[in-house]
Amino acid sequence: MPTDGEFTFEPTEREAVRAALLEWYDRHRRDLPWRDIEDPYRTWVAEMMLQQTQVATVIDYYRRWMERFPDVESVAHADIDEILELWQGLGYYRRARFVHRSARMVVDEYDGDFPSTVDGLETLIGVGPYTAGAIASIAFDRPVPLVDGNVERVLSRLRAITGDPKSSENQSTYWRLADDLVDPERPGDFNQAMMELGATVCTPQNPSCLICPVRQHCQGFEAGEPDAFPEPVERSSKKPMSVAVSVVTRPAAGTGDELEFLLMKRPEDGLLAGLWEMPTVELDDEPDGQPEALDAIGGFLDASVGLDPEAALEQGWLGTMTHLFSHIEMTMHLAAHHFPRGVTLRGERERPTKWVPAGESEDVAMSAAGRKVMNRWRDNSALGN
Ligand code: SF4
Repeated sequence: MPTDGEFTFEPTEREAVRAALLEWYDRHRRDLPWRDIEDPYRTWVAEMMLQQTQVATVIDYYRRWMERFPDVESVAHADIDEILELWQGLGYYRRARFVHRSARMVVDEYDGDFPSTVDGLETLIGVGPYTAGAIASIAFDRPVPLVDGNVERVLSRLRAITGDPKSSENQSTYWRLADDLVDPERPGDFNQAMMELGATVCTPQNPSCLICPVRQHCQGFEAGEPDAFPEPVERSSKKPMSVAVSVVTRPAAGTGDELEFLLMKRPEDGLLAGLWEMPTVELDDEPDGQPEALDAIGGFLDASVGLDPEAALEQGWLGTMTHLFSHIEMTMHLAAHHFPRGVTLRGERERPTKWVPAGESEDVAMSAAGRKVMNRWRDNSALGN
């Protein structure tokens, strides 16, 4: 497989791809209610809704939403129940909560104006690299790239990129190529054109190459097997599950250096029944980046045991790891929260919880996944030692 640096578009080809794609987009784009509007609020709402839901379903929800909430202030001042009600049927209700909290952030911290850079946009809850790229390019005309599943497919075919499209090597190739290609004059339209091409012409099966505006630049087509790219990857037959976990610690009572871990008991039936684990929350879908995972587990700590993550002395990120059960592939997004000595739990607790001194943690009935998490924490020099 070529290395990342070998996939390129020569400058003349880059210009030709931009021109052909934009011309095609001007003639064939679908008429969608969030198009042709330079309003970051509207782009943001549409992108949040589109993250897990088909375009055809989102259209009605988007229209109803805009009637009720015409601007970010109206969302910020609304009651969460009303937001959830309007979101009902779209699924992934965590996103509705993110929209509510981010709207408050925009109003309180940004004076009602959305940040216009990718970095600024990524400070909003639930906004990862893709969504930030979409808002920055579409609403602010910034020449920044975005990569979603459609863009991955189009780029894989244009440059005949082999290998797992989700590998980090290929992901960095896609982002680099998308960055090279994005049109500096019409970045938002260009990014939407790439996605539109993937959705309507360069489809996963039987792409319509004969009507494709960039056919003459497509190495997959030239090779005679466009739908061999991206390479099909044998996915595990195990059911995917995504969780956010935190290793929660506090200094043990007294004056020594020993730490205690917070553990929660799993329900008496189902997966890992009755075993103890670090605080863990199951996620509806894969988080769009580290901040979203941190946010999910922080919200869980607050809601389940009354620990406000903001009160932690240290808050860290331990990365992501996978654990295989016989029928489940669990992706764990790992955080660490270290609280001050004497911090106590609050509220009614649905599950038994306890603080366990680090020296006794080996004696606790914990799953292999839990042990892996603890080892990762110990290996982390900043928080584990
Ligand atoms: S020529 Fe075919 S495979 Fe290549 S980009 Fe166009 S539709 Fe996709």
